[in-house]
Amino acid sequence: MKSTEAVAYYFNKAAAELGLSDSMKTLLLTPERSIKVEVSIPMDNGEIGNFVGYRVQHDSSRGPFKGGLRYHPQVDTDEVAALASLMTWKTAVVDVPYGGGKGGIQVDPKKLSRGELERLTRKFVQRIHDFIGPKIDIPAPDMGTDGQVMAWIANEYAKFHGFEPGVVTGKPVELHGIVGREEATGRGVATITREVVKRQGRTLDGMSVAIQGFGNVGSISARFLAGMGAKIVAISDVTGGVYAPDGLDLEELTKYSKSAGGVKGFSHAKYVTNEELLTLPVDILIPAALGDVITTEIARNMKARLIVEGANNPTFPEADEILNQNGVIVVPDILANAGGVIVSYFEWVQNLQNFRWTYEQVVREQDSKMSQAFDKVYEVAKSRNLSLRLAAFYVAIERVAKATELGGF
Ligand code: NAD
Repeated sequence: MKSTEAVAYYFNKAAAELGLSDSMKTLLLTPERSIKVEVSIPMDNGEIGNFVGYRVQHDSSRGPFKGGLRYHPQVDTDEVAALASLMTWKTAVVDVPYGGGKGGIQVDPKKLSRGELERLTRKFVQRIHDFIGPKIDIPAPDMGTDGQVMAWIANEYAKFHGFEPGVVTGKPVELHGIVGREEATGRGVATITREVVKRQGRTLDGMSVAIQGFGNVGSISARFLAGMGAKIVAISDVTGGVYAPDGLDLEELTKYSKSAGGVKGFSHAKYVTNEELLTLPVDILIPAALGDVITTEIARNMKARLIVEGANNPTFPEADEILNQNGVIVVPDILANAGGVIVSYFEWVQNLQNFRWTYEQVVREQDSKMSQAFDKVYEVAKSRNLSLRLAAFYVAIERVAKATELGGF
């Protein structure tokens, strides 16, 4: 099963548990609006560059559409639609007042000059500006986009609609962004991990952790988990992985990977492949790089008893089934990596109120939202005998269905 099909698969399982009618299921699965636009720009060499841009607005029963904007060669309607619905469930499970959306442009941003990237972004906004806005749809960075792209979007949008920094989140702190957004997802992964372990009557002290991915989510999860007492024994990135059963020196590894362009070759650690990392004898595994990495074979050989999904869609549904049968606890992506969208929500609130939050406020409120979301999902999982993943979908779908009913048709 492709990861684009996985969201609908989990939706259907949780919706059956909720006893939703077929018509309500169809309503909740169908995107409200799907936009596809031509985005042609003059390239630096004088030729015309032809690109296609997408925005899928999945559900707005709980608030404006919210979700990332991705610049990647594989962006297409199916992928964007699946990710848009994932956002609907993610914003609902952590109870922020949004629906779900996702967008992107089919392009390899690494092949564009900075000027081309800016022109492409501004042209895309010219095409879709009537369909986005702080009360309509609020994009954010995703693969291939960053704070600079968000700053260009806000600037271009203002030409049509006036000063509205809340039209996007993930902006640079110097231009109406929020402190603590960069680290929010990794910090959330660590917070959720601590909550699960607490429920088992343990602490993170001395627990061994392997992390796939040493980018934003992986490196920050590692830093916060180590700060909570865990022992980070393995880390990988696109170059491969390193494993030291007694624990890795994260500061040294960060310096090394910056200078060497990856973790491979780090001394005092054994080289492991990305696949080997996933089945190492550790207490906790955090996939924080790509989707579709935990296959049925890896699930069968998994030694970790707790998986916290930092990446989106890292586990194939068939593998998820095996992990459940084997008693491995999996904290699903829609809950585990929701820290980013939670702090995006705070950024939007800050923009609407023209009032800046402090770092301490951001951390306190994020921690509180994530812990509340975890408590709710855990309680549903226990009372209905569901996996945490199905419980998270159950909580999310119940909230969206209720809002849809209350709003009326
Ligand atoms: P990033 O680009 O900062 O880091 C990605 C990491 O993955 C890098 O260390 C890279 O070397 C590694 N990687 C790339 N290809 C690989 C491969 N073939 N094998 C092994 N490692 C590989 O990205 P990020 O922001 O840390 O995002 C990681 C994951 O988390 C993605 O699935 C993303 O969708 C998800 N996510 C991110 C956020 C966020 O706020 N950044 C929020 C929610 C979900």
